[in-house]
Amino acid sequence: MRNIDKTKPVMVTGATGYVAGWIIKKLLAEGITVHATVRNPGNKISLQYLDDLAEKAKGNIRYYKADLLDNGAFDEAMKGCELVFHTASPFTSKIRDAQKDLVDPALIGTKNVLNTANRIESVKRVVLTSSCAAIIGDAKDCLGYPNGIATEAEWNMTSSVEHQPYSYSKTVAEQAAWELSKAQSRWDLVVINPSLVIGPGINPNATSESFSLVRQLGDGSMKSGVPSFYIGVVDVRDVAEAQVAAGFTPGAEGRHIISAGNTDFMALASLLRKKFGNAYPFPKKLVPKLLVWLIAPAAGFTRKMIRLNVGYHWRVDNTKSTRMLGMKYRPVEESIVDMFQQMIDNNFFHTAKK
Ligand code: NAP
Repeated sequence: MRNIDKTKPVMVTGATGYVAGWIIKKLLAEGITVHATVRNPGNKISLQYLDDLAEKAKGNIRYYKADLLDNGAFDEAMKGCELVFHTASPFTSKIRDAQKDLVDPALIGTKNVLNTANRIESVKRVVLTSSCAAIIGDAKDCLGYPNGIATEAEWNMTSSVEHQPYSYSKTVAEQAAWELSKAQSRWDLVVINPSLVIGPGINPNATSESFSLVRQLGDGSMKSGVPSFYIGVVDVRDVAEAQVAAGFTPGAEGRHIISAGNTDFMALASLLRKKFGNAYPFPKKLVPKLLVWLIAPAAGFTRKMIRLNVGYHWRVDNTKSTRMLGMKYRPVEESIVDMFQQMIDNNFFHTAKK
């Protein structure tokens, strides 16, 4: 049980991120002072949207320079905070070296932030943004779970640096967080495990992989069809709601699957076509698994990834989040339509071919 004093500052790592933006907006609206860690606080232009949020809200924002890989970089920002949101971690497919580009920042960064919490006496709770990727590696893994549905009891046992490295980075980082948390008793750890996050961003220059994935549904890259990929999705505004609830609910504990629904790329494309008609080249059919498997390397996927994911149902159970954090999820349709509309408004599709 931890009661967090809202008059004390709250720290958010990776403040420039897609998920962090909405958390910060909520904290500022509640009148909280946010200690925002960023890699480049000197880049005033890229932080202007956060300053604008603070300007209109009751709370304040202060920036601190911190890289996940720099030991001790988070000390200054954490001073005086009872609550820490650790969201910073790379979520990108643009990698050259999976260990260096994904696993090191996720794992070393999480240890770095939590070791800082061990040093800074004011800290009472850390809310870690993990992922459903730390629960399910490949969709085929669901066959081994009761009723084919993953709960918070499951762990991703199948990813590695070579296979699904992002999922591996999230798994080892969350495991390290639990180890560090169990070794002490001053602060507790509450974990948020979102599925694929969609919905409109606050940062106009967001780099999250969520944007690349949704953009591809409408930019013509999938116009000849999509593989039968099952996924879970959740609105970024709901993820922020869950994070803030995890931070301030005294009895919050453990992991929380944060996911609005189990769906697939074809269903998302159908929702977009229902709203935007044929104005964009949304995929209309499924590409057979054998064909996807054959062309996978040319499209930047491994054949193993295709073999273990295409056609297998990916399913999670979100009931703990509704029970313990009071989550009420937005419909998937609202999230995907709002995100796509924002992309249209921001000229993401000026080169899209019909
Ligand atoms: P994002 O917009 O790319 O945000 C990632 C953040 O991490 C950025 O602020 C980035 O800072 C920071 N970061 C990356 N490497 C860093 C380093 N070496 N040192 C300091 N900061 C670093 O991605 P997001 O989607 O918001 O992801 C945020 C969190 O949610 C991540 O932990 C991710 O794994 C998790 N998550 C995301 C999804 C999803 O679908 N989006 C789903 C489940 C979980 P810069 O701006 O300086 O690059």
